[in-house]
Amino acid sequence: MSAEIISGTAMRAEILDELKQEVAAMQEKHGKTPGLVTILVGENPASVSYVTLKVKTALGLGFHEIQDNQPESISEQALLELIEKYNQDDDIHGILVQLPLPDHIDEKKVLNAISPDKDVDGFHPVNLGRMVIGGDEIRYLPCTPAGIQEMITRSGTETAGAEVVVVGRSNIVGKPIAVMMGQKGPGANSTVTMVHTRTKDLDEHCRRADILIVAAGVPGLVKPEWIKPGATVIDVGVNRVGVSEKTGRAILSGDVDFEAASKVAGKITPVPGGVGPMTITMLMKNTVKSAWFHLENKQNDAA
Ligand code: NAD
Repeated sequence: MSAEIISGTAMRAEILDELKQEVAAMQEKHGKTPGLVTILVGENPASVSYVTLKVKTALGLGFHEIQDNQPESISEQALLELIEKYNQDDDIHGILVQLPLPDHIDEKKVLNAISPDKDVDGFHPVNLGRMVIGGDEIRYLPCTPAGIQEMITRSGTETAGAEVVVVGRSNIVGKPIAVMMGQKGPGANSTVTMVHTRTKDLDEHCRRADILIVAAGVPGLVKPEWIKPGATVIDVGVNRVGVSEKTGRAILSGDVDFEAASKVAGKITPVPGGVGPMTITMLMKNTVKSAWFHLENKQNDAA
């Protein structure tokens, strides 16, 4: 058996097309497009390349995009004031602060200073709380878990009643996706087990999974014999396992032995080209959602 590949690259193109149509409809109705500011502190090469990709994607969708680069030496107070400026700016619907920040700045303080209404990364405690309550309370889902859920549903995998096993319990991937899959509602209603470094018999848990989501950051952690035949496998791991002699670029590998797992799984995500492209896509989706919220609900609130 050879698993169907769930391509994040193809899904990204599909979703960005949908978003483009929404942006056009917004422009027509309100004469505005979604506004996103990306704040980059310093010149960490990985951060520069992430921000560049986010800016390029936003511009490609016709967003009002501001790339606000700040020097490494910016004080915490000055950064907090900058965020407050964008909190008050009616043309900005999403504020993104690229992490990591320099050591002299308290990351938590900075992320918590972003208005929850403009927190399109979905990391603010208010938005994480809303995510846990679920249903109509949800405003912005954190981007990587949202991308994972989208991949599961768009690939036609049945989630209701499915055994979902999540490997990893980080705040940005494992914990939120475990909560989301266990919620009542479409794309969820699953029976969820979250496993981690202290779990006994990790392989036994994985073998039960109809949907196996792996976010451990350990290359090749999940062996093919841990996979239930026909299961949907979502490999979130992005591990640099070497450097290509040909291109000089990093060789990336997931947490699952892809070649061998493809012979057992029913559906599987590749690395690269799987969950990765979905994360930025979900950031764009959250920004469009925020723009609608600010242009419609907030105006109505004020009326
Ligand atoms: P993390 O290091 O914060 O958390 C890893 C989790 O995995 C921990 O909770 C730990 O308990 C668990 N774990 C580690 N080793 C284990 C083992 N041997 N057995 C069982 N559990 C184990 O990492 P994270 O931020 O959640 O990221 C996980 C992976 O996903 C990384 O490779 C990261 O690069 C990748 N990632 C990818 C995207 C994307 O957009 N594709 C986004 C975020 C993270």
